[in-house]
Amino acid sequence: MSARDEILLLFTSLSEEEKSKVLHELSQASTTEETVRIEEAHVVCCPHCESKLFVKNGKRGEIQKYKCKACCKVFSSKTGTTLHRLQKTDKFELYKSLMLESYYPLKQIAKKVGISIQTAFDWRHKILSGTAKDDKAFEGITEIDDIWFLYSQKGRKGLDYSRKRGGSKRAGDNDFQAKLLITTDRKKTTDMSLTRIGRLRKADIERKVSGRFSEGCALVSDKHRSIAAFAKSENLNHVSFKASEHSAGGEYHVNNINNMAEGLKTIINRTLKGVSTKYLENYANWYQLRNKKLNASEVARMLLQNKNTTSIHINREARYKWFIENFSRRTYRCPVKKTYQSMIAPENLAKLNLV
Ligand SMILES: [Zn+2]
Repeated sequence: MSARDEILLLFTSLSEEEKSKVLHELSQASTTEETVRIEEAHVVCCPHCESKLFVKNGKRGEIQKYKCKACCKVFSSKTGTTLHRLQKTDKFELYKSLMLESYYPLKQIAKKVGISIQTAFDWRHKILSGTAKDDKAFEGITEIDDIWFLYSQKGRKGLDYSRKRGGSKRAGDNDFQAKLLITTDRKKTTDMSLTRIGRLRKADIERKVSGRFSEGCALVSDKHRSIAAFAKSENLNHVSFKASEHSAGGEYHVNNINNMAEGLKTIINRTLKGVSTKYLENYANWYQLRNKKLNASEVARMLLQNKNTTSIHINREARYKWFIENFSRRTYRCPVKKTYQSMIAPENLAKLNLV
């Protein structure tokens, strides 16, 4: 018996009162209604110039279009987001829910959804580029630490350089360690940012989390000099402990970061068998997304909120080049023989919230 027949059979066995309840709940959850509601809530300004002066400009199919009075460009609630110009939307919905369910390898998820591996890869990073970073301020006791992953060029084609999996495992060989800075408070406001390949500097921390601490924050970390210097310059109460002691006593520990680090390392190094440094931050986003245990419509809302996803996605290679050249001692190597053109002026790359 098909799932549909089974549902119908079960439905007829309900009392009249229960039936109407179920019908009501189903209509509440119906995707079209939900989509309309989400869409309307997310057109607050023109995604091209951020002007709030725009008018409705007819519909194309189901989609409401708007025209900006300042820059004259036409847009919809999807412009600039993960869902912009997305084909195969029903498959995309399934893909998205599978991504929330588990860290499926590309081959497996492509097969489950019935798409090519290339599309699976593209969708993965379109989604992860659009899961908005938490930009809330940290409150109260806030843990900070950096964890590292080996520099990796996994998946890059056409390199004459043979060690795609990156560098040496020698302890202290910082120049092959991609540092992910984790900052998290006890209300679960979390930032995970790729900061540098090599030893973390005070300026790296500033670049990522400066100005995000509310009054009365206590920053907890081990005795990393850069963190101490950062805390001092931000005027933060810094509680530090020797790395070997793991805690400064009582509530002043970094257990939450330690748990995240363990989870993330298992996923990246074991489940996914290493990921390219270029996409490391996206995988940290994935980990955070799954940890938040959001449902599909909350994720849809998040994706529609983020209007610079398309720009992030298109300019990822340019931004990665900028990162390698400015924040590592590695040499940037162009992945394929074809010349690659950036769509964005170099001075604007720093503004894109990605590496
Ligand atoms: Zn505009």
